[in-house]
Amino acid sequence: MEHFNHIGGMDVPAHSGATLEHIRPSTGQPDARLPRSDVRDVQHAVEAASAAQRAWADRPATERADLCDAIADQLDKRIDEFAALESNDTGKPLTLARNMDISRAIANFRFFAGAVRHDETGAHEMHGAINFTLRRPIGVVGLITPWNLPLYLLSWKVAPAIAMGNAVIAKPSELTPATATALAGIFREVGAPPGVFNLVHGLGGEAGQAIVDHPQIKAISFTGGTATGARVAASAAPVFKKLSLELGGKNATLVFSDADLDAALDGAVRAGFTNQGEICLCGSRVLVERSIYERFTAAFIDRVRALRVGEPSEPSTQVGALISEGHREKVRGFLALAVSEGGTVHGGGVPNRPGWFMEPAVITGLSPTCRTATEEIFGPVVTIHPFDSEVEALAIANGVRYGLSASVWTSDLSRAHRMSVALEVGMVWVNTWLLRDLRVPFGGVKDSGVGREGGRHSLEFFSESRNVCFRWR
Ligand code: NAP
Repeated sequence: MEHFNHIGGMDVPAHSGATLEHIRPSTGQPDARLPRSDVRDVQHAVEAASAAQRAWADRPATERADLCDAIADQLDKRIDEFAALESNDTGKPLTLARNMDISRAIANFRFFAGAVRHDETGAHEMHGAINFTLRRPIGVVGLITPWNLPLYLLSWKVAPAIAMGNAVIAKPSELTPATATALAGIFREVGAPPGVFNLVHGLGGEAGQAIVDHPQIKAISFTGGTATGARVAASAAPVFKKLSLELGGKNATLVFSDADLDAALDGAVRAGFTNQGEICLCGSRVLVERSIYERFTAAFIDRVRALRVGEPSEPSTQVGALISEGHREKVRGFLALAVSEGGTVHGGGVPNRPGWFMEPAVITGLSPTCRTATEEIFGPVVTIHPFDSEVEALAIANGVRYGLSASVWTSDLSRAHRMSVALEVGMVWVNTWLLRDLRVPFGGVKDSGVGREGGRHSLEFFSESRNVCFRWR
């Protein structure tokens, strides 16, 4: 398969003609090539986006919403094709790609179509005057996304950005180009004005950095690792570029002895290992009240051992391949570190087959302050720790640089509320995990990011509020 950039409605190679090889995670074999774009391709995309943006912003919001709905309809019709592309690129189970990634991408386009149709702004009356708020698009915006949820996260940014009247330049991870390429095809099929959606494939340090640095790109919505986010922020700050940063996590799952243990076990396994543990929201640290620690841990390890690792296209597969050989090495490096830090690793072997597969691992016996238990691993690895009190549970949960999410399992409503208030995170789930309402604020605190996306937060990010004060007397 050959990928192209999509600029001004045309599929084009990189200006330099250079390409990158794509490797399929489940086989370890090359299966596609994509443009290795540079600053010239980004410049081309900025010109196309700038030429299209003003006319697009002048279209009624209902028309922009209709375009989002038309994209959702096409995705819906081709859900199996998109799920196969996503599963091939990421190594994730096909059923997960269909039921989570592509279903959510469809929902994102439909949701923001509705959101912009029903959007409203404020008015503030004074004696003899009235203020009202206009919301204007920003112009050309850059969208930079990671490999773990490729279309899910790209559509989460594209839909509100275009619904608000911006033109976009998207750069997906070079590890997962396929669904972005296919989405560009859908933009063309549904008759989107050329230049509203532009796609530039390539490496982060080249195409990505060129997007961040371009003076005509006025806002960047970035999802990725914390170190990259810091680099993006450092480049954007001197030119006051609007920034949304959704970064890494080391999320705690807190299980109290009064929880419904069966539900908590299910929830903790799902939180730890969905998508091979390659979700920023994954609960990679399980904290368990000491009175149930031994029982819970034994049952948890049993359930994790029962997870079926295998061919992503098999409907029964629960854990697919990791994204790349390098990433699997990094993840397995943490297992070796855990042993040197005094931990016992349960699982974590490498199946005897091609591709970047790895069995899920549970690590016991570690201090909650060691590197394995505090650094983001972003793979199928969970550490499990006992605690004696709410105060200790909170100290462990909050004792990391990250602050993305947490899940709390308890039947005590007052405790659930106390924990929700005291946890230093952007999102808390009580007796559930990853239950998502697209209206709610999504984002992290501390080193997990800056800003919120979702619902009106996304509409506000992708626009500028302008106050108009009318004196009428
Ligand atoms: P990453 O290495 O930070 O890359 C993210 C994106 O940024 C990729 O498209 C990457 O391109 C690009 N990039 C790299 N260097 C850049 C630069 N100097 N300027 C502009 N763009 C640049 O992250 P990843 O490994 O793909 O994804 C995993 C991370 O994402 C984890 O830390 C995870 O927690 C985080 N994440 C956070 C959320 C959230 O909502 N908070 C959601 C999902 C994932 P290349 O791929 O070509 O390097």
